[in-house]
Amino acid sequence: MNDAILPTVRRMIRDNTTLDALRADIRSFVRERWHPLEDQVDRDGAIPETLVDELRRKGYFGWSIPEAYGGLGLTTEELVLCAFELSQASVALRARVGTNTGIGSEALVADGTEEQKRRWLPRMATGELTGCLALTEPDAGSEASNVQTTARRDGDHYVLDGTKRFITNAPLADLFTVIARTDDAAPGTSGLSAFIVERQTPGLRTGQPYRKMGQAGSPVSDVIFEGCRVPAANLIGGREGVGFQTVMKVLNKQRLHLAALCTGPAIRMMDLAMAHTQARTQFGQAVGNFQLLQAMLADSRTDIYAAQSMILEAARARDRGEDVALTASMCKYFASEMCGRVADRAVQMFGGSGYVADFSPIERYYRDVRLFRLYEGTSQIHQLNIAKLVLRERKAT
Ligand SMILES: Cc1cc2nc3c(=O)[nH]c(=O)nc-3n(C[C@H](O)[C@H](O)[C@H](O)COP(=O)(O)OP(=O)(O)OC[C@H]3O[C@@H](n4cnc5c(N)ncnc54)[C@H](O)[C@@H]3O)c2cc1C
Repeated sequence: MNDAILPTVRRMIRDNTTLDALRADIRSFVRERWHPLEDQVDRDGAIPETLVDELRRKGYFGWSIPEAYGGLGLTTEELVLCAFELSQASVALRARVGTNTGIGSEALVADGTEEQKRRWLPRMATGELTGCLALTEPDAGSEASNVQTTARRDGDHYVLDGTKRFITNAPLADLFTVIARTDDAAPGTSGLSAFIVERQTPGLRTGQPYRKMGQAGSPVSDVIFEGCRVPAANLIGGREGVGFQTVMKVLNKQRLHLAALCTGPAIRMMDLAMAHTQARTQFGQAVGNFQLLQAMLADSRTDIYAAQSMILEAARARDRGEDVALTASMCKYFASEMCGRVADRAVQMFGGSGYVADFSPIERYYRDVRLFRLYEGTSQIHQLNIAKLVLRERKAT
């Protein structure tokens, strides 16, 4: 898709021909523009700005933002189909746009006031502004409700104090969706509220990007608030005490999105492994002829198909307006674990070359995808959540 057809894509909702054109465009962008840059991005720890501009021109930052605010307004099904394509690459690519098409914009989309949406979403859709979600803290990880950052009302402002940890895209973000405690006396989550905080607000600073295991080119850091005065007009939805509900809306959708984003790397690793096992000969023949390796291919393809099927089904259910709390959690749990299994088999199929960065990109993929099982709910938290919801369902029948 060249830039000229963006206006057509804007009108495409539910138009399969245009959706197919968008998916084909993503596919060729990933192969022709991104794959050749993957090593460079890994070495430099940064995505070239010219490529980010290309993503902007193509409208990739606005996939999930409603058309009324300048985005493409993709349905959940369309979003996961596009995510299957975009993620057949090293993770940094999709992470660059991914906060705008997910956790960085979704709180505004779900619960923002009309004025808040008009003020920020159009510039997020074009990629002029990069968003992020600042929920996690040093003492609020899996126990996300244990947020200690406070937001104290002072006239027509709130004053924020506290530290957020592990925030994707924080080093380059312009807008921070921040969950903070507005009511110390309220128990658990009921004292939490969501705010939009602009980068230039005095009292906000971001830490140095961490040195991570993988996903080079996707910067993550602390966010520190010290007497940070945020206009009361930036309280999302204009209501205190509903911040955690807002986050759960964001995460229920995001778990489907992330599950789809776990699937692309698995497809790519399997493609690379198939090519390698056909080219590499031992014992006088391609190692891909050996049935023990074919079993790994069979298990990987089956895993990928299962993930894609459940993600698509759950995405369609969400588009029908059904509650996807359980299915989204299952999708995120299954797809992230699935991707880890495929990564492990891919290293095995490559042999020593799978372990050595000089000989194959599999070593990098293996490190990149490890994070999927940790963020947006660890696998253990999803197991607990799935069990809780299943038991609740059983009680209700
Ligand atoms: C690179 C990176 C990017 C991230 N991006 C963001 C972001 O953009 N925004 C954001 O807000 N957060 C982000 N996170 C935070 C991420 O969501 C958390 O790291 C995650 O929720 C886990 O919290 P934790 O690291 O504190 O682990 P902990 O909660 O300390 O968990 C440690 C271990 O204990 C297990 N555990 C905890 N509680 C239980 C229980 N009740 N039962 C069984 N096992 C349990 C966990 O599964 C895990 O194995 C990011 C993290 C990383 C590493």
